[in-house]
Amino acid sequence: MNSHMQKPATTQEQKPILSIVIPAYNEEGNIEKIYHDLSEILLEIDISYEIIFVDDGSNDRTWEVISSLQQKDSLIKGLRLSRNFGHQYALFAGLSHAIGKAVISMDADLQHPPRLIPELISKWHEGNKIVHTVRADPEDFGFLKKKVSRLYYKIFSFCSGIKIEPGMADFRLLDRDVVNSVLLFREEGLLVRGIVQWVGYPSAFVHFQSANRYSGSSHYTLKKMVKLAWNGIASFSIVPLRISTVVGLLMGCFALLVIGYAVYAKYVLQEVVTGWTSLIAVVSVLFGILFILIGIIGEYIGRILLEVRQRPRFLISDRAGATSSDDRNSEMTIDP
Ligand code: UDP
Ligand code: MG
Repeated sequence: MNSHMQKPATTQEQKPILSIVIPAYNEEGNIEKIYHDLSEILLEIDISYEIIFVDDGSNDRTWEVISSLQQKDSLIKGLRLSRNFGHQYALFAGLSHAIGKAVISMDADLQHPPRLIPELISKWHEGNKIVHTVRADPEDFGFLKKKVSRLYYKIFSFCSGIKIEPGMADFRLLDRDVVNSVLLFREEGLLVRGIVQWVGYPSAFVHFQSANRYSGSSHYTLKKMVKLAWNGIASFSIVPLRISTVVGLLMGCFALLVIGYAVYAKYVLQEVVTGWTSLIAVVSVLFGILFILIGIIGEYIGRILLEVRQRPRFLISDRAGATSSDDRNSEMTIDP
């Protein structure tokens, strides 16, 4: 495609209106396609833009593809993280480098259709500072994954008081004000979709039918999903700690009842309550619950440790077309 010849010039002095942030982990087969589709749409609506690809420590040719595209088209910026830090951090790295007045984040695998962009922008022009997208699940989204994710967001909303719709993905438009607010969050276990809900601002929704992946397969392993799920709950709520207290109280009441009954049986009914088996059963159940509760408390203490260490959340090892002066969040960069 030669269309980049006619693109609206975006010089250093003239900031682009729109930044597109795309985290990519092992997406060598998708980068060119999404670049192509995006450029076509963006040219059509005639808006000045930049596309920021964040290579989240891929071990395929993702970075090579990004940097060679960048050499052909200066509207592209590439960031390479020093290892795989995870989708949410890659997204954050991209947001902190975006300079547009509005920022759209989307996946690299074309499950988030670029043809929705004009609609996102028109909702933004109507005065919405956040334009969410809500997806109807694609066919390759398993039945179990669907059910579990719905259940999870119910639990998340219950614990945190923040409502996230099940189909809300990381495909959304954020106004500059919102991006600046989101960048203030320097917490461990980042969940951008939770933060975006937390900050508020007038928002709108766009519904879409998600496509199947263009190339490759999902990188969200069960382990990554469980980690994201727990991070989400633990960083937005202390309800699990409260539940621990309630369970502890209930167990204490139960124990008192059992002791009361034993005393009553001995002195009133004149019979000793026997039963090694029942004793062991009760003790093991109680200990089991106790350890789970201690575990939950431990998880929160662990999070305090992670938080007070103030480690950088991601490291940038390479930049293509992006400078560290664009970085609003000044994460550390390793000088090559
Ligand atoms: N991704 C990433 N780091 C990771 C895992 C995923 O940057 O550790 C990116 C990935 O390249 C894609 C997006 O996050 O652009 C969503 O990932 P994926 O498509 O694998 O998730 P799914 O759509 O299956 O939930
Ligand atoms: Mg995907």
